[in-house]
Amino acid sequence: AIIFVGKETDAAETRVAASPETVKKLTSLGCDVTVEEGAGAGSRILDSDFEKAGATIVKAADAAKADVVLRVRRPSAGDARIMKSGAVLLTQMDPYGNEEALKPFAEAGVTAFAMELMPRITRAQSMDVLSSQANLAGYQAVIEAAASFGRAFPMMMTAAGTVPAAKAFVMGAGVAGLQAIATARRLGAAVSATDVRPAAKEQVASLGAKFIAVEDDEFKAAETSGGYAKEMSKEYQAKQAALVAEHISKQDIVITTALIPGRPAPRLISAEMLKSMREGSVVVDLAVERGGNVEGSVMGEAAKVGGVTVIGYPNLAGRIPASASLLYAKNLLTFLQTMIDKETHEVRVDMDDELVKATALTHEGKLVHPGFGGAND
Ligand code: NAD
Repeated sequence: AIIFVGKETDAAETRVAASPETVKKLTSLGCDVTVEEGAGAGSRILDSDFEKAGATIVKAADAAKADVVLRVRRPSAGDARIMKSGAVLLTQMDPYGNEEALKPFAEAGVTAFAMELMPRITRAQSMDVLSSQANLAGYQAVIEAAASFGRAFPMMMTAAGTVPAAKAFVMGAGVAGLQAIATARRLGAAVSATDVRPAAKEQVASLGAKFIAVEDDEFKAAETSGGYAKEMSKEYQAKQAALVAEHISKQDIVITTALIPGRPAPRLISAEMLKSMREGSVVVDLAVERGGNVEGSVMGEAAKVGGVTVIGYPNLAGRIPASASLLYAKNLLTFLQTMIDKETHEVRVDMDDELVKATALTHEGKLVHPGFGGAND
């Protein structure tokens, strides 16, 4: 099979969907790997690094020859149209609310996979792009906060006096939140965290942070069978807001990561709460791309709200692109490997496979995912 690794067209996207390591592996599986010129530049990977790993450097138009296209973000309708009928696309398709944008892929006869729909099951852990990227985003959120803080994180007792430890509060203790807790702890902050899923309590405690939450009956039932949070009732949200308001006024750093699948992000921090924080505090809103957890967070900006800096950078994983690409590329490789026939080295999509069913959006000219315009059969 011919594999094409595209250069991302969004100028803000620093990541790339392959690494020298994954190119090497694909080559050893008998695939011809082509990489668009400059595709790795944002991730500190040179064309020559890809060449050394066995790839050929090509132009964007060479996507038309490929059986498999690997990308970070959904390509444009124009890019879809140049793809071969029957080709496979592995990328983050961002399908929620974007069904129209999926149609060109169906029309082009492309089998487009949304990597972010990979089920959270043991077999698919190594293909889980949401986890690999959220983990790095959680780390990077703390690094950004520390850089803007103007004070130290750890307590430091020096001959010239004592610097107190920063107090950090992490809201939403999923993959990103747990890494934010661990990172803030490593830097020496006193860390607390909250979540609406009871399972998070033990995980937070095991990282040495204090768990803070409204633990009523609704909380006890807030986790879906898929392990995600439900949207909480108005009553719960009010109780949560009261608890958070009290706690937040004493925090220096707040990292918010709360998401609900397919829904806008829950609003957890009001302008009023920001006002209660002291001068120089930093809030990082990881949910900014989904509407934000924080009132007043602005996409792409470090906004000043009174004395508080509210960081709303999208794609935090993309701010450590070399690490993010390494893991993302590996996620794609692991999934692609399940489709490469060992004898013929060709790609074969088994539409009955559980992982394929969960992630394939278009196939043989049609939308096929029941969640995104496909038939429910
Ligand atoms: P996510 O990105 O959807 O949400 C982030 C966190 O925000 C979640 O922990 C969620 O409970 C929390 N949240 C939602 N609403 C909230 C609110 N109002 N207040 C406070 N917190 C709120 O979640 P995620 O990081 O993708 O993780 C979801 C779950 O999936 C976790 O249980 C995680 O451990 C699990 N997981 C399992 C696997 C696997 O088994 N392969 C892989 C990854 C994640």
